[in-house]
Amino acid sequence: MSSTLLQATGFKRALLLCREGKHSEAEAILKSLQDEFLAVCEENEALKAQLHEVAAVLDLADNVRFDGQKYWLTDGGEQKGPYCQVCYDRDGLLINLQRRENNWECRNCQSRFMVPSKTAVPARRPTQRGGLKKAVPLFFENDMV
Ligand SMILES: [Zn+2]
Repeated sequence: MSSTLLQATGFKRALLLCREGKHSEAEAILKSLQDEFLAVCEENEALKAQLHEVAAVLDLADNVRFDGQKYWLTDGGEQKGPYCQVCYDRDGLLINLQRRENNWECRNCQSRFMVPSKTAVPARRPTQRGGLKKAVPLFFENDMV
């Protein structure tokens, strides 16, 4: 980076000025080097924070599962969700879906995800049916496949 290059050359210049006895000029250079150093420190902190964020996102990705329609998050053994597939795939956002009569709805992008059921009764229905592995996923269910 150019600022690193500037620092390297600046230090040498300051040293030469010191050797020539031009102390106030050397001091001015050191002052500007200090300012640059502080700016670099700030940038470094920002990058660290960014890295931390990326790591958190990657960790999140490890715990997100797709059920063919929607995403679910496993957090400390606890099942959370469902979340919008569109929003997560497009923006990396976990948007909670709102349960409607016959579907799940995303309030962010207005996507709708059909509940795999012919009846409008959301909760209590027989578990196994045709090729579907599970019935309506419920919030407290932690055994989604
Ligand atoms: Zn969405």
